[in-house]
Amino acid sequence: MTAESVLRERGLRVTPQRRAVLHYFLFNRGDHQTADGLWNHIQQAFPEIARGTVYKALHDLIDAQLLEHIPAESGGDLYGLRLSPHHHFICVKCGHLYDLPESFQPIVAQPDAEPIASIADVNLVFRGTCTACATVH
Ligand SMILES: [Zn+2]
Ligand SMILES: [Zn+2]
Repeated sequence: MTAESVLRERGLRVTPQRRAVLHYFLFNRGDHQTADGLWNHIQQAFPEIARGTVYKALHDLIDAQLLEHIPAESGGDLYGLRLSPHHHFICVKCGHLYDLPESFQPIVAQPDAEPIASIADVNLVFRGTCTACATVH
């Protein structure tokens, strides 16, 4: 699966910026980056690409639901691959954000709860201690 083929599949125009941003996340599965962090990676591989156009491409890909935007309480919002729906787990010790496997089934709100007509998507953030931190003494 190349960035270019994914863009075409979704009917999106292929630009160098979109291809570079999507390529980064396709080849760093499970990674989540801040906009600045992403920019640093893109800049190393494609020094000719301007910062503003990378941020624009980032938002185009979020609009197309290829990428996800995870707001962080302390600024530094994170972006990641969203080819398939998934939930997140944040380790309160190291701050790392993990994708939870698709098979992970949380308790989901009942669609008959008062304000809900139907649910199209669920994106939950769980907090706790990751196994790497739990095994360090
Ligand atoms: Zn941790
Ligand atoms: Zn994610």
